[in-house]
Amino acid sequence: MEISANLLIRNARLVTPTGVREGDCLIRDGRIAALGEVKSPGRVPELGAEGRFLAPGFLDLHVHGGAGGDFMDADPDAARAIARFHAQHGTTGLLSTIVPGPVERMRRAMAAVIGVPGILGIHLEGPFLSPEKAGALDPQWFLPPSRDAFGKLVAGFESQIKVITFAPELPGALDLIAEIGAIGAVPAIGHTAATYEQVTVALNHGARHVIHLGNAMTGLHHRDPGCVGAALPSGASIELIPDGVHVHPAFVHLVVEFLRGRGALHRLCLVTDATAAAGMPDGNYRLGDREVCLQRGEVRLADGTLAGSALTLDQALRNAVQFANLSLEESMSLVTTNPARVLGLDGELGALTVGAKADLVLLNPNLTVSAAVRGGVLVSQS
Ligand SMILES: [Zn+2]
Repeated sequence: MEISANLLIRNARLVTPTGVREGDCLIRDGRIAALGEVKSPGRVPELGAEGRFLAPGFLDLHVHGGAGGDFMDADPDAARAIARFHAQHGTTGLLSTIVPGPVERMRRAMAAVIGVPGILGIHLEGPFLSPEKAGALDPQWFLPPSRDAFGKLVAGFESQIKVITFAPELPGALDLIAEIGAIGAVPAIGHTAATYEQVTVALNHGARHVIHLGNAMTGLHHRDPGCVGAALPSGASIELIPDGVHVHPAFVHLVVEFLRGRGALHRLCLVTDATAAAGMPDGNYRLGDREVCLQRGEVRLADGTLAGSALTLDQALRNAVQFANLSLEESMSLVTTNPARVLGLDGELGALTVGAKADLVLLNPNLTVSAAVRGGVLVSQS
């Protein structure tokens, strides 16, 4: 199969924003040029879909690594290998997620991912976080919010940083929301001990995304509804890690039912929080400088704290379908349209529409990945 930014995918079941229909997909110069029956495309390499689903490529807002590599290695080759690994699982675009460490180290990690195919930008998971809800992150590198610390961290990377996670209860955190917005990034809540009231205030001040709902935050208690209770009915977009470990399958179902009932399923994004351990055999790996252990699909610190996942987004999709009785179209939106909207890339990515970038995934009926295409180029095929 010739590699080309022009490609004709024949006989697919096209997963479009208006439903699933049979047809072809013509790609020219890396963009979707036609959908439906394509009669005379000229000389274009063809790929037979043989009735498989053709969907937008998956987008993952929260990835630390994969296939043994970690973005904190600050190594462009390692970053390329991570992106390639996730593409094999249908993820054609991801945010390289940087964890708290020495500021220079964080900046080297940011520099290493610029221009890597499949990396849409950077998610800074900290360092303005609560030590009480550190999870697997190393609290020795957490910082109190300040204009000075923020400026030193992001200088020169403003256009690359897409999401910044912070704890809204920290003194100065509300001022940080405006600083984050000013560089065009999404202010996101996470690793937080904030009360329901504190989270609500932050959401009213412009915070508009909540990372891994249920994890490293105040949970939903009937007398203390916490971050979960504030996030769910808000307008914020929400991440969930549907590995069956980070949150109970029934919690995924509950969140889906709640959002669907409000016509707000468009706010939900599945993420992997994948570490270097994703795609690897049981053993010891790293998350930043911390040693993590993969055993039977769970990634933990030595003390048992969950430390990211070994999940891939295709598995996340299949799990969510099973946990929450999602329709095909619903499930697809959670890994395509919804994360694209968080990044302000709707129209460009995350939907099978004419004019959009040809980042695509070919799926078998059981939602395993058959092939992935980025910019009209076949990047993985099984
Ligand atoms: Zn994470």
